[in-house]
Amino acid sequence: MANEQCLVIIKPDGMAKGLAGDVVRELSTTDLKMVGSKVAQVTKELAEEHYSHLKDKEFFNELIKYIMGHFHHVGSVLALVYEGENATAKIRNICGATHPEKAEPTTIRGKFGRVHSQTGVFENVIHASENAKEAEREIKLWFKPYELIHNIYPIKRRKEEMETYSWK
Ligand code: UDP
Ligand code: MG
Repeated sequence: MANEQCLVIIKPDGMAKGLAGDVVRELSTTDLKMVGSKVAQVTKELAEEHYSHLKDKEFFNELIKYIMGHFHHVGSVLALVYEGENATAKIRNICGATHPEKAEPTTIRGKFGRVHSQTGVFENVIHASENAKEAEREIKLWFKPYELIHNIYPIKRRKEEMETYSWK
């Protein structure tokens, strides 16, 4: 048993269908702890980096448009970080198989996912990191250390001069 982190993203189809609450409720049936949460806009750069290991797949370009929200007129996704024993396996069990039609009907993807008839994209509501190593790569891409409730990975400190802003 290993303490792990897992990045979860409620994808644009999940946001457009109002499923963020359902997903969080499903995930709360585990013993995992939510240690980070934010609404994020997915730029092309972030999307391509997140899915960089799939760049040779024939569905890559459509996948990038999907995760950026182009198919659902949604400008943001909900990104969450969970932590606990075997977090990636537990969460991926709840997600179900990648292909919504092959996912068990009681899983999130089985309940709410679909294959889009025109694009062929698996609109499967939720992303979850495949293993702890991938989780680390993804969480470091999506979150700054100070956006999480504790330092789940080693940090380095550096002084940075930058313009900032506050509420008027
Ligand atoms: N995907 C797709 N067609 C495929 C395989 C994947 O549209 O034939 C999409 C689907 O949305 C999936 C994402 O690409 O969730 C990332 O694929 P991956 O193989 O990493 O599946 P996951 O880890 O999300 O189950
Ligand atoms: Mg994957």
